[in-house]
Amino acid sequence: MAKKSIAAVDCKGKVVLMRVDFNVPQDDSGAITDDRRIRMALPSIESVISRGGKLVLMSHLGRPKGKGPEPEFSLKPTAIRLGELLNKKVVFAGDTVGPEAESAVKALHDGEIVVLENVRFNPGEKTGDAEFAGKLASWADIYCNDAFGTCHREEASMVAVPLAMGNKPKVVGFLVEKEIKYLSDTIANPARPFVAILGGAKVSDKINVINNLLSVCDQVIIGGAMAYTFSLAQGGSTGKSLVEKEKVELAKELIAKGGDKLVLPLDTHCGDDFKSTCNKIVVDAGKIPDGWEGLDIGPKSAEAFSKIVREAKTVVWNGPMGVFEMPPFDQGTIAVAKAIAEGDAVSIIGGGDSAAAIEQLGFADSVTHVSTGGGASLQMLEGEKFKAVEILDEA
Ligand code: AMP
Repeated sequence: MAKKSIAAVDCKGKVVLMRVDFNVPQDDSGAITDDRRIRMALPSIESVISRGGKLVLMSHLGRPKGKGPEPEFSLKPTAIRLGELLNKKVVFAGDTVGPEAESAVKALHDGEIVVLENVRFNPGEKTGDAEFAGKLASWADIYCNDAFGTCHREEASMVAVPLAMGNKPKVVGFLVEKEIKYLSDTIANPARPFVAILGGAKVSDKINVINNLLSVCDQVIIGGAMAYTFSLAQGGSTGKSLVEKEKVELAKELIAKGGDKLVLPLDTHCGDDFKSTCNKIVVDAGKIPDGWEGLDIGPKSAEAFSKIVREAKTVVWNGPMGVFEMPPFDQGTIAVAKAIAEGDAVSIIGGGDSAAAIEQLGFADSVTHVSTGGGASLQMLEGEKFKAVEILDEA
């Protein structure tokens, strides 16, 4: 069932406590190198302040130890960037539940914003401490979760705080609403053919996704280094490619379960060293000679995968087809990204590397949805339910 949206609650004069994901990358000087996560939260933020809500934003940033402030993980730069993006004053509180935060929240007027300091500076965030959560909840009239990248976690700001809100409204923001719509609802009821493309380094990271998608998709395409463990399972040779020998039995089971649904590469683009400048050969899949390693799918696979993708009506993609950071071993990933971008299927790009690849290649505007959450999007594709979302109000 759909969750109640921030759009459905009256915010005028109310304190809205919104959990956002402002966990942005920064360079050594602390400058934000990519503000996408802040920009993705803007629709919910603008919705609250334009309707006269008093907005309190909380987030984590990085992995501080949870024993007090660590300046390199301060959220202050995100508050400054948010102010620039909105062209509006944004107050920053130098603590999360301390006197600065409390007085900043109490001083809010309608339409104003305060960003609290990193929730993870408090030991109670990780442990889900009731006192910490209760203090945050006591300031708020409405709780809103718009932190999709953190939805698979059960930290205090995600679970204990909304639980401590009791009967007060607990809603999703527009970003979380959109992610659920694509990663869960579309997949539960897809237009067919429904095709998944899974790549990346390790089978072990993606077993549950492969398993779940084999149950619901018409075809599951495997690329990336993962494919070499499947080659071993079929008795092929993989040279010095990245393989997981202990997952060969599991790959055999997935091959048996998948039957015709499981589509493996036909050929492999190999190098004799992990470098752009190495010597290169293309060989049939499972025929990688000693001294060579697979670094990308070959051209026959790229063509075959692209054809399947072009005929699909729903496409889910998670994980690159090869070492896309190292040309020319980006060719397989580019071919697949291009086929997705040019096709007319509903296309959902899982977070992490595939999202980075689709943006880097300039195709982000040609796909239906690029997820903002790496781990969260993977877990949603696995069919997992998130406690942080389940405890929110139904629409
Ligand atoms: P993941 O985080 O599991 O999605 O894996 C992404 C990483 O897998 C990227 O950094 C790719 O460079 C890497 N990768 C993909 N194919 C290969 C390959 N054939 N050999 C080594 N690494 C690969």
